[in-house]
Amino acid sequence: MSDTDALNIPRSSFPRVVIVGGGFAGVALAKKLSGKEVQVVLLDKNNYHTFQPLLYQVSTGGLEPDSIAYPIRKILQDYPNFFFRMAEMQQVQTGNQKIVTNIGSLSYDHLVIAAGSETNFFGNTEIEKNGMAMKSIPQSLNLRSMILENFEQALLTDNLHERDALMNFVIVGGGPTGVELAGALAEIKKGILPKDYPDLDTRRAQINLIQSGDRILKEMSENASKKAEDFLESLGVQIWKNTRVTSYDGKKVTTKTDLEFEAATLVWAAGVKAVSIKGLDAQEILKPGNRLQVNEYNQVQGFENIYAIGDIACMEKEDTPRGHPMMAQPAIQQGRHLGDNLVRLLEGKKMEPFIYKDKGSMATVGRNKAVVDLKNYKFQGVFAWFVWMFVHLFFLIGFRNRMIVFVNWVYNYVRFDREARLIIRPYQRDYSWFKE
Ligand SMILES: Cc1cc2nc3c(=O)[nH]c(=O)nc-3n(C[C@H](O)[C@H](O)[C@H](O)COP(=O)(O)OP(=O)(O)OC[C@H]3O[C@@H](n4cnc5c(N)ncnc54)[C@H](O)[C@@H]3O)c2cc1C
Repeated sequence: MSDTDALNIPRSSFPRVVIVGGGFAGVALAKKLSGKEVQVVLLDKNNYHTFQPLLYQVSTGGLEPDSIAYPIRKILQDYPNFFFRMAEMQQVQTGNQKIVTNIGSLSYDHLVIAAGSETNFFGNTEIEKNGMAMKSIPQSLNLRSMILENFEQALLTDNLHERDALMNFVIVGGGPTGVELAGALAEIKKGILPKDYPDLDTRRAQINLIQSGDRILKEMSENASKKAEDFLESLGVQIWKNTRVTSYDGKKVTTKTDLEFEAATLVWAAGVKAVSIKGLDAQEILKPGNRLQVNEYNQVQGFENIYAIGDIACMEKEDTPRGHPMMAQPAIQQGRHLGDNLVRLLEGKKMEPFIYKDKGSMATVGRNKAVVDLKNYKFQGVFAWFVWMFVHLFFLIGFRNRMIVFVNWVYNYVRFDREARLIIRPYQRDYSWFKE
């Protein structure tokens, strides 16, 4: 073998750990391996880490996208023996211990898959084509532009029916993403639209949140669900429970019941699935939601030196029969734990099993309104909202980002404003079809 790979990374005397994905899990692992006797190669298809929990604030003009993104090279720049390549992994060749990427192939001694998840449309190609997803910064920017463009279009028509449809928002999925987005849109409707569009009757704008089950925030306590529902209703959001959306042609939303909506915007926040990894797609490895089955050391079933962490990993244990929740905490904890385990391996010690410490969950609905479920303490309202903000600031990467987000939040709070309501990159949409 030559002493460099196609990605121009020199061979070192240390074992090479290739990490695919610079999200919560991949970054937590990389940090743990700093200063250890390994060569670390981190790959990501983007050159930045995304703080996904605040994507909805980008979509609704509360934050600029660069305040929730962070350059991966900057995270790694002080670590010796670290290499980053902006590359998309396309395949794992387990036989010869290589991965194939869009810029060449790379050999590994240990491979860690931390590639996360993507929106799950459950095979509904019509909704996938016409609906909006919110899983990445480009998607959030598309949504931000589209929301604003809809209002610009609404100003141009004297057809009341069409105008209402342009101002009608349907959000599918009553999990934290759907709830947070619905709350933010309701606040925009109340505080910003009347000032920005004085010649439009923005009171007619509707925000509909559709949930297939009988309560929103179903992963949280009943109290939290009920309170979040009250908060949303007080903001004017219409919640439709036990309602399953079946199709959306870009204009009409149909459901399994008689309920139909005419809406220019449908946001699909109804589920995620692990990204597909070619070469690790044997049926016996794949678990529901396309996740890779791992043991308690995060080793992918059937492989000693291939690991999966974060959203993509499914570790079935007694207390987590369907794997850990696809959330930031399990990803961070698994990344850190695997880092410790790889160091143990290098030192010739035994790996230790992963034990998840559930730190609770939370969601915000808007100004002064949030719900928090901790293990022994559940609370809602203003204090919960402060806790929500503190936790999100704490986990954001980078001092500058924390400062910018904090200053933006204070400004938005004091001024009842969201100044990033900009159509920087227009969302290309054919409105003539919508008007037909
Ligand atoms: C809108 C939204 C709101 C959320 N809110 C919360 C919340 O409030 N609290 C919470 O705990 N969790 C929340 N989550 C979930 C949380 O963000 C995820 O669970 C977490 O990001 C998972 O971390 P990860 O490292 O597994 O994957 P990710 O953070 O998704 O990182 C995966 C990385 O892999 C890269 N990648 C993917 N495929 C490839 C490839 N083939 N080659 C190279 N790179 C690749 C991606 O670019 C990405 O950087 C939210 C998610 C979304 C979408």
